[in-house]
Amino acid sequence: MPGAPSKPPTCRKRRRDANVTTETTQNTGSPLPPGSTIGILGGGQLGQMAALSAAALGYRCHVYSPDANAPAKEIAAAQTTAPYEDEEAARAFADAVDVVTFEFENVPDETLAIIAKGAPVRPGVHALHVSQNRALEKAFLNDNGIGTAPWAAIVTADNLEPAATIGFPAILKTACFGYDGKGQVRVDAMDDLAAAWVEIGEVPAVLEGFIDFEREISVIVARAAGGDTRSYVPVDNVHREHILFTTTAPSTIDNETAEAARAISHRIAAELDLVGLLAVEMFVTRGGDVLVNEIAPRPHNSGHWTMDACAVSQFEQFIRAVVGLPLGDPARHSDAVMTNLIGDEANQWQTFLNEDGACLHLYGKAESRPGRKMGHVNRLSPMVRTEP
Ligand code: AMP
Repeated sequence: MPGAPSKPPTCRKRRRDANVTTETTQNTGSPLPPGSTIGILGGGQLGQMAALSAAALGYRCHVYSPDANAPAKEIAAAQTTAPYEDEEAARAFADAVDVVTFEFENVPDETLAIIAKGAPVRPGVHALHVSQNRALEKAFLNDNGIGTAPWAAIVTADNLEPAATIGFPAILKTACFGYDGKGQVRVDAMDDLAAAWVEIGEVPAVLEGFIDFEREISVIVARAAGGDTRSYVPVDNVHREHILFTTTAPSTIDNETAEAARAISHRIAAELDLVGLLAVEMFVTRGGDVLVNEIAPRPHNSGHWTMDACAVSQFEQFIRAVVGLPLGDPARHSDAVMTNLIGDEANQWQTFLNEDGACLHLYGKAESRPGRKMGHVNRLSPMVRTEP
């Protein structure tokens, strides 16, 4: 099995004295009733679409983000604008809500520890930690018998040797704070590694063997407090300049590979004791193996197609899990292709509105920048096949 357990580096921003083991969840008791307040850490489009689903079920959302103009705040019932390091603001936020969840992973440990003392955190702090750090994540996956690209932790310039076992070409990725290909450099030979590490900022990193994959797929899985676990059908993902470009639902992989991908995703959710939603991004190799690239314990861009092709979208499923409602049916009623609208592509919104079968979603971001996700369009078509 690919993947090499190795000592994971820690993130520089993490303080050693952080007490993150005091979380007050996972409570499997009664659901929070409609009218309760869900705290969301992070204010991007994922939080915005989650808050819309929460509102449809009668819940209020309180969005915490340092950005006063965060898209999720446009539709939140309450908001906190403060840095994630502001412990007083974090305490007040936890006191003001009935449950806390997040729409991005990079919340500091200290803040999470404070919040976990005041309100249940879903998914739990453990799931967040594992997914915040690529090395911890890969070690966790390999320890549970789940394949990844071969990898080695890189912590200082003096310990580059373990990288020699990985093989080249390889990709050097920062262990923390990377997204959409940021903090990644291709490395073609051992002699180039030291310079690549300088290029990513001399921070803890992982070196990953390059996988000549046949395709990239993902599975969105939800897990309820009582352990009920449901996943959406595996989908095919195509990236453009490291950013997700299209998601096609369902994937055209064979049934056996689809079953394997779903089983891996369910196992990760169970091992993390996750209550909420988990996205699992995977490579399918030319030999048919399924390797996990990355996990995210929250709604995910590759699940946006569910908004229009399923009776219960990933955002509604996420809210259901977080407040303790029964999970909904993840079956789809249509096939779908989701296309991200990046930067100026969103300017063509009128074209999409005039297109039959196209469902437009714009995030209301004031400023369009190259590489910035401004919206997406889901194109629906009748289901071609049903899965076993
Ligand atoms: P990530 O930020 O790790 O999700 O990487 C972004 C994209 O880079 C992935 O979706 C792949 O298209 C590509 N990529 C990342 N890691 C590898 C790898 N080990 N081998 C081949 N391609 C990769």
